[in-house]
Amino acid sequence: MDTTILIVEDEKNINEILSYTFTQSGYKTLSAYDGVSGLEMCLQQKPDLVLLDVNLPGMDGMDVCKEIRKTSNVPIIMLTAREDEVDKVLGLEFGADDYMTKPYSARELSARVKALLRRAEMRTQTSDTKGPANIIVSGDVTINVDRYEVKKNGKIIDITLREFELLKFLAEEPDQIFSREVLLENVWGYEYLGDVRTVDVTIRRLREKIEDDPSLPKYIMTKRSIGYYFNKL
Ligand code: CA
Repeated sequence: MDTTILIVEDEKNINEILSYTFTQSGYKTLSAYDGVSGLEMCLQQKPDLVLLDVNLPGMDGMDVCKEIRKTSNVPIIMLTAREDEVDKVLGLEFGADDYMTKPYSARELSARVKALLRRAEMRTQTSDTKGPANIIVSGDVTINVDRYEVKKNGKIIDITLREFELLKFLAEEPDQIFSREVLLENVWGYEYLGDVRTVDVTIRRLREKIEDDPSLPKYIMTKRSIGYYFNKL
Protein backbone atom coordinates (compact mmCIF):
# COMPACT_ATOMS: atom_id res chain seq x y z
CA MET A 1 0.00 0.00 0.00
CA ASP A 2 1.17 3.51 -0.77
CA THR A 3 2.51 5.65 2.01
CA THR A 4 0.67 8.95 1.89
CA ILE A 5 2.03 12.28 3.09
CA LEU A 6 -0.35 15.19 3.59
CA ILE A 7 1.25 18.59 2.95
CA VAL A 8 -0.55 21.53 4.57
CA GLU A 9 1.18 24.66 3.32
CA ASP A 10 -0.36 27.83 1.90
CA GLU A 11 2.67 28.90 -0.09
CA LYS A 12 1.87 27.28 -3.39
CA ASN A 13 5.44 26.92 -4.65
CA ILE A 14 6.67 25.35 -1.40
CA ASN A 15 3.72 22.97 -1.38
CA GLU A 16 4.50 21.96 -4.96
CA ILE A 17 8.21 21.49 -4.31
CA LEU A 18 7.48 19.29 -1.28
CA SER A 19 4.92 17.32 -3.22
CA TYR A 20 7.37 16.84 -6.10
CA THR A 21 10.20 15.81 -3.76
CA PHE A 22 8.17 13.18 -1.94
CA THR A 23 6.48 11.88 -5.09
CA GLN A 24 9.94 11.37 -6.58
CA SER A 25 10.88 9.34 -3.49
CA GLY A 26 7.92 7.04 -4.08
CA TYR A 27 5.34 8.48 -1.68
CA LYS A 28 1.82 9.48 -2.51
CA THR A 29 1.10 13.10 -1.55
CA LEU A 30 -1.98 15.13 -0.77
CA SER A 31 -1.91 18.94 -0.71
CA ALA A 32 -3.99 21.38 1.32
CA TYR A 33 -3.51 25.16 1.24
CA ASP A 34 -5.26 26.24 4.41
CA GLY A 35 -5.80 24.87 7.92
CA VAL A 36 -9.45 23.90 7.67
CA SER A 37 -9.10 21.87 4.49
CA GLY A 38 -5.86 20.38 5.84
CA LEU A 39 -7.70 19.17 8.92
CA GLU A 40 -10.59 17.79 6.86
CA MET A 41 -8.24 16.01 4.51
CA CYS A 42 -6.35 14.51 7.42
CA LEU A 43 -9.50 13.17 9.07
CA GLN A 44 -11.00 11.82 5.85
CA GLN A 45 -7.99 10.50 3.95
CA LYS A 46 -6.02 9.30 6.98
CA PRO A 47 -2.50 9.99 5.64
CA ASP A 48 0.52 8.21 7.13
CA LEU A 49 2.27 11.46 7.98
CA VAL A 50 1.44 15.18 8.00
CA LEU A 51 3.75 18.09 7.13
CA LEU A 52 2.08 21.07 8.73
CA ASP A 53 3.00 24.71 8.22
CA VAL A 54 2.54 26.86 11.33
CA ASN A 55 1.41 30.07 9.63
CA LEU A 56 -1.69 29.25 7.64
CA PRO A 57 -4.63 31.43 6.66
CA GLY A 58 -7.73 30.91 8.79
CA MET A 59 -7.01 28.13 11.25
CA ASP A 60 -3.27 28.09 12.02
CA GLY A 61 -1.03 25.04 12.13
CA MET A 62 -1.02 24.79 15.93
CA ASP A 63 -4.81 24.60 16.08
CA VAL A 64 -4.88 22.10 13.24
CA CYS A 65 -2.35 20.00 15.15
CA LYS A 66 -4.41 20.18 18.34
CA GLU A 67 -7.57 19.16 16.48
CA ILE A 68 -5.85 16.24 14.73
CA ARG A 69 -4.52 15.01 18.09
CA LYS A 70 -8.05 14.69 19.46
CA THR A 71 -8.62 11.68 17.24
CA SER A 72 -5.33 10.62 15.72
CA ASN A 73 -1.73 9.85 16.55
CA VAL A 74 -0.55 10.31 12.95
CA PRO A 75 3.07 11.54 12.90
CA ILE A 76 3.13 15.33 12.45
CA ILE A 77 6.11 17.47 11.48
CA MET A 78 5.55 21.20 11.95
CA LEU A 79 7.17 23.60 9.48
CA THR A 80 7.89 27.04 10.84
CA ALA A 81 9.35 30.15 9.26
CA ARG A 82 10.03 31.82 12.59
CA GLU A 83 13.38 31.30 14.19
CA ASP A 84 12.46 31.95 17.77
CA GLU A 85 12.43 28.98 20.10
CA VAL A 86 9.00 29.69 21.49
CA ASP A 87 7.40 28.82 18.20
CA LYS A 88 9.26 25.56 17.98
CA VAL A 89 8.52 24.52 21.51
CA LEU A 90 4.89 25.50 21.20
CA GLY A 91 4.64 23.34 18.13
CA LEU A 92 5.69 20.38 20.21
CA GLU A 93 3.43 21.38 23.07
CA PHE A 94 0.46 20.92 20.78
CA GLY A 95 1.41 17.32 20.15
CA ALA A 96 3.59 17.50 17.05
CA ASP A 97 6.31 14.85 16.78
CA ASP A 98 8.95 17.05 15.24
CA TYR A 99 9.52 20.43 13.67
CA MET A 100 11.74 22.06 11.10
CA THR A 101 12.59 25.71 10.66
CA LYS A 102 12.47 27.19 7.17
CA PRO A 103 14.56 27.22 5.11
CA TYR A 104 15.17 23.51 5.68
CA SER A 105 17.20 21.17 3.57
CA ALA A 106 15.15 18.71 1.57
CA ARG A 107 17.55 15.97 2.61
CA GLU A 108 17.12 16.60 6.31
CA LEU A 109 13.33 16.80 5.97
CA SER A 110 13.29 13.52 4.03
CA ALA A 111 15.44 11.89 6.71
CA ARG A 112 13.06 12.96 9.45
CA VAL A 113 10.01 11.84 7.47
CA LYS A 114 11.61 8.46 6.93
CA ALA A 115 12.58 8.11 10.59
CA LEU A 116 9.08 8.97 11.81
CA LEU A 117 7.41 6.65 9.32
CA ARG A 118 9.71 3.83 10.37
CA ARG A 119 8.80 4.31 14.01
CA ALA A 120 5.10 4.50 13.19
CA GLU A 121 5.37 1.31 11.18
CA MET A 122 7.13 -0.47 14.03
CA ARG A 123 4.30 0.64 16.25
CA THR A 124 1.69 -0.92 13.96
CA GLN A 125 3.64 -4.13 13.45
CA THR A 126 4.43 -4.74 17.08
CA SER A 127 0.84 -4.18 18.13
CA ASP A 128 -0.10 -7.10 15.88
CA THR A 129 2.42 -9.56 17.28
CA LYS A 130 1.28 -12.34 19.53
CA GLY A 131 3.09 -13.84 22.46
CA PRO A 132 3.76 -12.78 26.03
CA ALA A 133 3.43 -9.05 26.40
CA ASN A 134 6.36 -6.93 27.49
CA ILE A 135 4.75 -4.88 30.23
CA ILE A 136 6.17 -2.47 32.79
CA VAL A 137 3.95 -1.84 35.79
CA SER A 138 4.53 0.93 38.31
CA GLY A 139 1.83 1.98 40.75
CA ASP A 140 -1.29 2.75 38.70
CA VAL A 141 0.66 3.13 35.47
CA THR A 142 1.03 0.23 33.02
CA ILE A 143 3.28 0.48 29.99
CA ASN A 144 2.70 -2.14 27.32
CA VAL A 145 5.91 -1.93 25.34
CA ASP A 146 4.73 -4.19 22.50
CA ARG A 147 1.43 -2.45 21.99
CA TYR A 148 2.77 1.08 22.47
CA GLU A 149 0.06 1.53 25.02
CA VAL A 150 0.01 3.27 28.40
CA LYS A 151 -2.73 2.82 30.96
CA LYS A 152 -3.40 4.91 34.03
CA ASN A 153 -5.80 3.31 36.51
CA GLY A 154 -6.67 0.74 33.84
CA LYS A 155 -7.67 3.37 31.31
CA ILE A 156 -5.71 3.83 28.08
CA ILE A 157 -4.26 7.32 27.87
CA ASP A 158 -3.67 9.25 24.68
CA ILE A 159 0.02 9.37 24.04
CA THR A 160 2.12 10.40 21.04
CA LEU A 161 4.89 8.25 19.68
CA ARG A 162 7.62 10.50 21.06
CA GLU A 163 6.02 10.70 24.51
CA PHE A 164 5.73 6.94 24.54
CA GLU A 165 9.33 6.43 23.55
CA LEU A 166 10.57 8.83 26.18
CA LEU A 167 8.50 7.13 28.88
CA LYS A 168 9.61 3.69 27.76
CA PHE A 169 13.26 4.73 27.66
CA LEU A 170 13.11 6.04 31.23
CA ALA A 171 10.92 3.25 32.60
CA GLU A 172 13.08 0.45 31.22
CA GLU A 173 15.85 1.55 33.56
CA PRO A 174 14.20 2.87 36.68
CA ASP A 175 16.26 5.08 38.99
CA GLN A 176 18.86 5.60 36.31
CA ILE A 177 19.32 9.36 35.81
CA PHE A 178 19.59 10.50 32.20
CA SER A 179 20.73 13.95 31.12
CA ARG A 180 18.58 15.86 28.66
CA GLU A 181 21.31 15.49 26.03
CA VAL A 182 21.31 11.71 26.44
CA LEU A 183 17.53 11.61 26.19
CA LEU A 184 17.56 13.80 23.09
CA GLU A 185 20.12 11.52 21.50
CA ASN A 186 18.36 8.28 22.37
CA VAL A 187 14.70 9.18 22.03
CA TRP A 188 14.87 11.74 19.22
CA GLY A 189 17.77 10.12 17.37
CA TYR A 190 21.43 10.96 17.14
CA GLU A 191 20.90 12.97 13.97
CA TYR A 192 18.52 15.24 15.79
CA LEU A 193 19.83 18.78 16.05
CA GLY A 194 17.18 19.89 18.46
CA ASP A 195 17.07 21.96 21.56
CA VAL A 196 17.27 20.20 24.94
CA ARG A 197 14.18 22.15 25.99
CA THR A 198 12.27 19.84 23.67
CA VAL A 199 12.93 17.19 26.32
CA ASP A 200 11.53 19.41 29.11
CA VAL A 201 8.37 20.11 27.13
CA THR A 202 7.80 16.42 26.43
CA ILE A 203 8.47 15.54 30.08
CA ARG A 204 5.88 18.13 31.12
CA ARG A 205 3.31 16.71 28.72
CA LEU A 206 3.98 13.19 29.97
CA ARG A 207 3.57 14.30 33.58
CA GLU A 208 0.24 15.89 32.76
CA LYS A 209 -0.85 12.54 31.39
CA ILE A 210 0.41 10.06 33.96
CA GLU A 211 0.92 11.94 37.23
CA ASP A 212 -1.89 12.58 39.72
CA ASP A 213 -0.34 15.96 40.39
CA PRO A 214 2.08 17.03 37.64
CA SER A 215 3.73 19.55 39.98
CA LEU A 216 4.48 16.78 42.51
CA PRO A 217 5.49 13.91 40.27
CA LYS A 218 5.76 10.34 41.61
CA TYR A 219 6.91 8.63 38.41
CA ILE A 220 8.91 10.99 36.24
CA MET A 221 11.38 12.62 38.58
CA THR A 222 13.73 15.55 38.10
CA LYS A 223 17.27 15.29 39.43
CA ARG A 224 18.15 18.95 39.71
CA SER A 225 20.73 20.19 37.22
CA ILE A 226 21.40 16.60 36.11
CA GLY A 227 18.37 15.23 34.33
CA TYR A 228 15.38 12.94 34.70
CA TYR A 229 14.68 9.44 35.95
CA PHE A 230 11.77 7.06 36.32
CA ASN A 231 10.71 6.11 39.81
CA LYS A 232 9.26 2.59 40.01
CA LEU A 233 6.56 2.34 42.63
CA1 CA B 1 2.60 29.78 5.57
